[in-house]
Amino acid sequence: MNALGRHILVEFYDCSPELMNDVMHIENSMVAAAETAGATVINSTFHHFSPYGVSGVVVIQESHLAIHTWPEYGYAAVDLFTCGDSVNPWVSYNYLKEAFEAGHGSSMECRRGQLELLKRLDFNLESLRDVSPKPAEQLGTITRDIWFTERDENIALSLKHSGNQLYKKDSPYQRVEIYETLAYGNMLTLDGMVMCTQKDEYVYHEMITHVPIFSHPKAKRTLVIGGGDGGTVRELLRHEQLEEVTLVEIDELVIEACKLHLPETAVAFDNPRLNLLVQDGIKYINECADSQYDLIIIDSADPVGPGEGLFTAAFYKEVFRCLTPDGLMITQSESPRFNSAVFVEIYETYKQIFGQDKVHCYLAAIPTYPTGTWSFSYSSKGDSHPLVFDREAAAAFSQAQGLKYYNEDIHTAAFALPNFVKDLLNSNTNTNPDDYSAEPTH
Ligand code: SAM
Repeated sequence: MNALGRHILVEFYDCSPELMNDVMHIENSMVAAAETAGATVINSTFHHFSPYGVSGVVVIQESHLAIHTWPEYGYAAVDLFTCGDSVNPWVSYNYLKEAFEAGHGSSMECRRGQLELLKRLDFNLESLRDVSPKPAEQLGTITRDIWFTERDENIALSLKHSGNQLYKKDSPYQRVEIYETLAYGNMLTLDGMVMCTQKDEYVYHEMITHVPIFSHPKAKRTLVIGGGDGGTVRELLRHEQLEEVTLVEIDELVIEACKLHLPETAVAFDNPRLNLLVQDGIKYINECADSQYDLIIIDSADPVGPGEGLFTAAFYKEVFRCLTPDGLMITQSESPRFNSAVFVEIYETYKQIFGQDKVHCYLAAIPTYPTGTWSFSYSSKGDSHPLVFDREAAAAFSQAQGLKYYNEDIHTAAFALPNFVKDLLNSNTNTNPDDYSAEPTH
C-alpha cells in the first residue's frame, strides 16, 4: 500500500432507529467491528444524548473507528481509519452494516499519508520512543468510557456508566431504563431524563416529605401521586403518626425496575402500611372525595408548563378540593435556573389556587439534576407555615433515622432564597437568572 493508512467515510442509511439510539449496542458493535478486522482496541468513549443520538470513538493501535447517529433519520455517519496492512477496514464496514441493520450504505475510501507526498525525516526517532514501563494489567485491557447525557439545547449533564444497562422496557407511558453509573450507582431514567440515582436520591425524597410533616405534625392521611421509585413513601413511612400512606403510580414498570435495581429506594413496597394503587393519579384525584388528605405530594413529571406537564391548573384545583382544611400540597417544582419559565408558571398557578401568601418555595442541592439546584413548592390550604415547626423533634428524628440530608437547620435554610429566585417568584419574569447584572431590587 503506498500510503500510511486507509480512511473510509461511510454513510449508513435506513438503519433501525432503535439501534441508532442504543448506546450499548453501538459501542459493542464498534468494538467488535474493530476486533473482527484484526485491530487492537485501546479504549472506547461513547455518549448517549437525550432525547436521542449517539456519538463515539474506538481508539485502536491502528488509528480509530468513529460514529455519530441520527435515530430520527435512521442514519449513521461512520469513519473507519486503519493504518498499516494488517487491518482491513472493509471487514469493519461489513460487520457494522449488518449490526445496524442498514438498508444500504455508501462509502468513499481515502488513502491517508500518501508516501509519494511524504519525505522521511533524518531524525533520531529513538528520542521520541515512549520507554515508560506499562504495568502488565494495562496491556491488552480496554478502558470503556460510555456516557449517558441529559441535555437541552443549552446545557448538559453527563454521567459515565458501565455499559451494562440493567433495565430497558417501554411502557404505554414512557421508556423505563436503569443504568449502572460509575459515580452515582444505579440510575433510573424515564424517557431519557434522570429521575433518581442510588447515591443522591435521598436529598429529593427527604426534602419532599419531612419538611411538610414537621410543619404539620397532626397529619394522619397522606397521598403521593407518581413517585413510583418508592423513595417518597419510604420517607413518609418513617413517621409513626401517619395512619395512611397511599401511593398512586401510573406505571407498574417503574415499580418493577426500582424493586429490581434500586432496592433501597423501593424498600417501602414491602411495607404493609403502604396502600399502593397502580393507576392514573389525575383520574384518582378527580374521583376522590373532598377533604380526604392532610398531605398530598405530587412526585411526578413536570407539573405544569407549556404543553410539557402532565398536570394542569384544573388538576391542582382538584388537589385543593381533596385536602383537609389544614392540608398541605407539596410538589417538585423544577429548577429556577434550568426551566425558569415553567418555574414561574408553576408558582403563579399555585398562588391563584391557594392564595398569594400560602405558597412557598424551597431549594435543595441535587447533583444529578440539571444545574444541581432543584426546587419544591409548599402550598398550605390552612394556617400551616413551613418555618413553624418543632426544631427539637426534627433534630431528634433526623438523628434517630440516620437521615443524610434533612435536619432542623436544612429545613429552615431551604427557604432562604437567592434574589434571582425571589424575583422569579415575584413574577419578574423578565429576570434572567443568568445575566443577573441588574442592580439588586431588594
Ligand atoms: N421520585 C423521583 C425523583 O427522585 O425525581 C420522581 C418521580 S418521576 C419524576 C415521575 C413519576 O410519576 C414516574 O414514576 C411516573 O410514572 C409517574 N407518573 C407520571 N404521570 C402520572 C400520573 N398521571 N399518575 C400517576 N403517576 C404518574
